[in-house]
Amino acid sequence: MRVAVVGAGVSGLAATKCCLDEGLEPTCFEQSQDIGGLWRYTEHIEAGRPSLYPSVISNTSKEMSAFSDFPFPEDFPVFLPNAQLLDYLRHYTEHFSLREHIKLGTTVVSIRKHPDFATTGQWNVVTEADGKQTSDVFDAVMVCSGNFSEPSLPLHCFPGIERFRGQYFHSRQYKHPDLFQGKRVLVVGMGNSGVDIAVEASRVAAKVTISTTRGAWLLGRVFEHGYPWDMVLNTRLMSLIKTNLPRPLSQWLINYQVNQRFNHENYGIQPEKSCLVREPVLSDDLPSYILTGRITIKPGVKEFKDNAVVFHNYPEEEPIDIVVFCTGYNFSFPFLEESVVRVENKHASLYKYVFPTHLQKPTLAVLGLIKPLGGIMPVAEMQARWVSRVFKGRGANGSPPVSQNAAQTGHVLSIPPEGSLEIPELRMLKTEWLSYLDTLASFIGAKPSVLGLLCTDPWLALTIFFGPCSPYQYRLGGPGRWEGARQAILTQWDRVLKPTRTRVPAGSSSSFPSLLTVVGFLLLLAAVIFGF
Ligand code: NAP
Repeated sequence: MRVAVVGAGVSGLAATKCCLDEGLEPTCFEQSQDIGGLWRYTEHIEAGRPSLYPSVISNTSKEMSAFSDFPFPEDFPVFLPNAQLLDYLRHYTEHFSLREHIKLGTTVVSIRKHPDFATTGQWNVVTEADGKQTSDVFDAVMVCSGNFSEPSLPLHCFPGIERFRGQYFHSRQYKHPDLFQGKRVLVVGMGNSGVDIAVEASRVAAKVTISTTRGAWLLGRVFEHGYPWDMVLNTRLMSLIKTNLPRPLSQWLINYQVNQRFNHENYGIQPEKSCLVREPVLSDDLPSYILTGRITIKPGVKEFKDNAVVFHNYPEEEPIDIVVFCTGYNFSFPFLEESVVRVENKHASLYKYVFPTHLQKPTLAVLGLIKPLGGIMPVAEMQARWVSRVFKGRGANGSPPVSQNAAQTGHVLSIPPEGSLEIPELRMLKTEWLSYLDTLASFIGAKPSVLGLLCTDPWLALTIFFGPCSPYQYRLGGPGRWEGARQAILTQWDRVLKPTRTRVPAGSSSSFPSLLTVVGFLLLLAAVIFGF
């Protein structure tokens, strides 16, 4: 079975590898001259490609971001600078011999249903390389083209911008902070780009202001006791609590936890909605930069004047030299017909955020669009594992991907109206990272059974239940089982501590695992006894 994979970024590489695992024949088309997608930094901004600033560091830790059968090297830092993440993707490509299945410099121009689609599920794929177009028939398609190439710059939402005499640009244009030297800078939008750029600008600028309409929940990469935030928050125990406690109680618990580091209200960034429906911002610097006056937080922009900005509910106008619109990205599928991923009122239905709901044959899937609170690489990989098994005719495990009414399942992805702040993000983020992974894993028979393991391998069961839900858990059994999974789980903290415990006095050791074990064992016993 021949599968066309569109894009050789994180999702495309995982898709190619999973196809090979299932005995399918993938051809991965990458329009640029190299693999890596978003994570391949270039100094020049290339049309149709994502553009990073050189200081980007992953927001999720290496243990929680790894592909499930390929841990990061132990000496890599816990959060990855973009160059090291790209290195990892190169090692992955080499290790699983993916390179020969990737066609670089080849743009996918169009994907259309084959005339026999209703019976064969096939696709006509037109590609272009060196100015020459080629048409080919594929049995299935995985769309892995990413969603950070089309900047959303909703200038119509900013009255007076046409007469603003300073400089303004979208965060996609940003590379280095030199241009902010001695300037008064306004950053619009408090997503991860906005906060990163404001922090960098504040080291050289005369003044930096962040304008935020909704505020944000701020997490530090360095979380409780200095452990990575996602290894503390994304555990099976926490997921159980989040999904089983009454909603107000679980929200209160999360709000309480997030406000432990500092009170968001006192720092002017308290979000208007619950943290469950807004992607948190990761920054270890912002609170201290607010405290030291390097960055000021202001409400949404009301209007621009010649050399200043006026904020909503704020009496004074503020003089500004440069505005950086960190207003996020749109996504679209220009090579697909509307009838394939149907966009109606800027809304598209994708079952489990992957399969178009209305196709007669489940032979096209969109990977890597979801933004749950956790590493995207394990999510894209799990989607690829499921999709490749569905393509192979083995995957749905009693849960066919396209015959259900996706709207009823609640797993529908909305494509946002330009500049919209409403429904899409809310729906995507309501999907809990671990529950989503578990759901797809259960489709392919790769979801670990904690209770089963408790009888056969209690130490592993405890580590899985109370420890971080590292992706290796999904390789303990089922299709694609990996021999090294158990060992990778049991050594995950070693790989976290290796690059940081670089000066340890002889004889000292971490008390964390032993404490965790004792408390964990008691809690697990309680959970089993009370049927929690
Ligand atoms: P984003 O998360 O989509 O945030 C865009 C922000 O722009 C919104 O939160 C909103 O901020 C503001 N906005 C949007 N439309 C607006 C409008 N019409 N009027 C006023 N404000 C508007 O975009 P991003 O920060 O560029 O991030 C994109 C993705 O890349 C995210 O998933 C992010 O996590 C990721 N990222 C990751 C890293 C990293 O890994 N280190 C770094 C950067 C980005 P307010 O509600 O505050 O007004």
